[in-house]
Amino acid sequence: MPKMNPKHNPAHVERTNRKRARNHVSARFPKIPQDDEWMDETGDRFQIMAGINNPAWGVGSRNGRPRCGLCGKTTNLTKTECCGQWICDDEDQYVLFSFDTNSCHRNHDRYTLCANHDHEGHEGKWQECPECREDFETEMYVWYGTNEYNFEKLPNPPAYAPTKCAKCKKIIHLGEDGFMVKGEKYFCERCGGLAQLMKLPT
Ligand SMILES: [Zn+2]
Ligand SMILES: [Zn+2]
Ligand SMILES: [Zn+2]
Ligand SMILES: [Zn+2]
Repeated sequence: MPKMNPKHNPAHVERTNRKRARNHVSARFPKIPQDDEWMDETGDRFQIMAGINNPAWGVGSRNGRPRCGLCGKTTNLTKTECCGQWICDDEDQYVLFSFDTNSCHRNHDRYTLCANHDHEGHEGKWQECPECREDFETEMYVWYGTNEYNFEKLPNPPAYAPTKCAKCKKIIHLGEDGFMVKGEKYFCERCGGLAQLMKLPT
């Protein structure tokens, strides 16, 4: 039987809508639906969170053993400079015979307001920082503050109008989708010319 797209499951849509209403997260920033649980070898259950490049699993240190607060890994841990959390970091490691370059540290460092706030030397908490707010357009501000590379998410992210492809009007998610910009206009991957390059059906 073909796997059903969870987006087409009315029960899921219902849950997602409720969740959105609760969190005031606009439809602009849909998370990949995740109601699955994942169990590790010792029987601990984790909620599977949305993932872009790599799925991030729920947090927790267990038996006092530190784990990455984003993916749960227990090896190659370091602490973030910005917020002092345990996080995995393979970035600077030369791991023999390994092509695993996933690094939650790098993702947190590059794609979060928490790290931006620290790098830029702002004062106070990043969640309340007016300078961070000004550093990015609203959609990216919200994405940086709510993506899965955050330990703590931005409460009450501001609403913003969806970015749409200037040609086909498809919504473009700036934090996650491929797109092209021409002047003030945004184009989705298909309309922006990547389709021709990649020979995608149009
Ligand atoms: Zn990690
Ligand atoms: Zn941080
Ligand atoms: Zn800041
Ligand atoms: Zn388009």
